This record gives sequence, C-alpha cells and structure tokens, in this order.
Amino acid sequence: MSTDEFIDLRSDTVTRPSDAMRDAARNADVGDDVYRDDPTVTELERRAADAVGMEAALYTPSGTMANQTAVKVHTEPGQELLLDRESHIYRWELAGASMLSGVQTRTIDAGDRCVPSPEAVERELVAEDLHRPGTGLMALENTHNYRGGVAVPKSRIDAAAAAAHDAGVSVHLDGARLFNASVALDEPAPALVDGVDSVTFCLSKGLGAPVGSILAGSEAFIEEARRVRKLFGGGMRQAGMIAAPGVLALENVGRLATDHANAARLAAGLDDLPGVSVPEPDTNIVVADTEAAGIPAADFVDACAAVGVGCGEFDTYTTRFTTHLDVDAEDVDAAVDRVAGVVTEHGA
Ligand SMILES: *Cc1c(COP(=O)(O)O)cnc(C)c1O
Repeated sequence: MSTDEFIDLRSDTVTRPSDAMRDAARNADVGDDVYRDDPTVTELERRAADAVGMEAALYTPSGTMANQTAVKVHTEPGQELLLDRESHIYRWELAGASMLSGVQTRTIDAGDRCVPSPEAVERELVAEDLHRPGTGLMALENTHNYRGGVAVPKSRIDAAAAAAHDAGVSVHLDGARLFNASVALDEPAPALVDGVDSVTFCLSKGLGAPVGSILAGSEAFIEEARRVRKLFGGGMRQAGMIAAPGVLALENVGRLATDHANAARLAAGLDDLPGVSVPEPDTNIVVADTEAAGIPAADFVDACAAVGVGCGEFDTYTTRFTTHLDVDAEDVDAAVDRVAGVVTEHGA
C-alpha cells in the first residue's frame, strides 16, 4: 500500500471481495432460492451449519436480519428478551426486537466478562404469571463488539446458557465474529456454541465476503426462520451470486490470526502515544482511550480521517480501530505514525 493511501480501520466490514470471490460470483450455479432451487446457497448453508456444528443454517442479507429473525422465532409478542446492556441486538439494531417481535428487552450489566453470571441470569429471568410476561429468550454475544472484541470463553457461555435452560428459556448467541473468538481461544466454533440453541455469524466481516450472514440452529428452528426471513423481506432469488463468495469466506477462518496479530501491534503502537491508553486486544478490535490526551473521540476520529486513517467514535473518549484482511502490518505501522501526528497536534 502506498503511503498516501487511506488506511481504513473503521470496521472489518470494509473489505473488498478478492478476485477469487468475484470469479466465484460470476461462475456460480444459481436458481430461485425462494423455491430452494439455488444450489450455491444450499451448499453455503450446509457448509455453514457444519462450521458451527448445528443441524441447519439459513443465509441472510445481514447479521441484523439473522439476529432479528432468531428473536422472532424464539419469542412470542409480549415476552421479555434478556441481554447485556452493551449488546449489539440491544444497542445497534434500531429497537428491532420491540418493533419486529413485540418483545420487551430486559438489560443486564454483564460487565467485563461480557456474559452474565449464572446467578445474574437466574435473578433476571422472569417467570410468566398474572402480572409478568415471562422471559422468552436470552441473547449472548461472542466476540463482544462494544466491550472491545472480547473473546468469551466457552465455560462462561455454557454456564449462562445452562441457567437459562434450567428455567426453560432458549438462548441465542450473536456470534457476528464467532470465528475470531474461536481462533483467539483456540476452541473449535462448534464447541463455543454447543450450549446455545441458535447462532448468528457474519460472512461479511473478517471472513471477507461482500454480503451476508448465517443463522444456524436445529432443522425445526431453521424451517421456521425461513418463513420469518421471508416475512422480513429477506427471501432472495438467484442469491448464489452473493453466496458463492460466502463459501470462499468460510475458508478464511485460519487467517483471522493475522488480524489479531495486527490488532495487537496496533494497540501496542497506539498505547505508546502520550495520553493514549489502549488495552491489549483479544481479537481484531482495538479500543483507544484519549481522555488523558484531552482529545474527545469525535475530534480524534475527524483528525485521524484528515491524515488518512479511518476509525470510529465509540464513546466520549473512546475510539474503535478494527483490523481486517485488507490491512497488513505495514499499514498498521503507517497508521500508528499518522495517529502519532494527530496526538502531537491535538493532545493536551
Ligand atoms: C456487525 C454486527 C452485527 C450485525 O451485522 P450486520 O451485517 O452489520 O447487520 C450483529 N452483531 C454484532 C456483534 C456485530 O458486530
């Protein structure tokens, strides 16, 4: 990458499809997937189900649709959905759970551990009675995006899920970056999700596909999810064109380790800058705190963009940088150099 090029660390969604993905799209065998006639979509769904060790899977246009479909299938209107107050489903999906499924959210502070303890789950679950709606679903997240790409160990997911199951409540895992967690924890993805009933993961983030996510679960769950996807307007026709790159994306799991190494390099470089504090990342998300430098995140993001580094405002003084397959170690070093200039110019 030449030195004047924009280094886009806003998100791992910004990756461009590889030549192989473009060729795969062009040459894909297709049919009308609403009639279940698209062999490429069917192949993607089979491989995706295997990748997470679930019976069946459904291809959706986005992770948001996959999550919201799961919420709708698992719940009845008027029930509660229990989830972390910093979770994507609660925070970044436009109140979809209430709009689309008519459920009331009950948030819990899962703290640094990102998943509530079994005691907290037991305390917050609501049993149905004359006055109370009952909890229909608990949702967990791994890696946890807003808490900094934290890879949540299997034991924590399993303990929280078991507490919900003991009360007869189903569990969905928002695993948009499940494979980042799997690589970071050196734990196979199926093991990370064997305690939950359904899982979402994104093909269009670190795995590099241009479009799409997966919802996986039991055969019966996915049959119902297919109807809900249609209801939400997500029934697609010759979707093999976009599913074919998704098949290739599943082969990119191993390379996520490179993104994690680049994120660690970036975090160390930024943490060395005066007034910038950056915890060591678990995966590919780096969260920089610029409060000691006296630079609000909104200004920091603008100043970084002006010197050719893309990042995103997370909170008043925190900014997110994300590594992905279109940036290498050289780009990371160049980004740190440019951000150093920003801190010198704007820092207290
Ligand atoms: C990105 C993301 C989603 C949503 O995926 P989209 O494809 O952008 O709709 C859901 N959950 C988490 C944790 C995410 O990071």
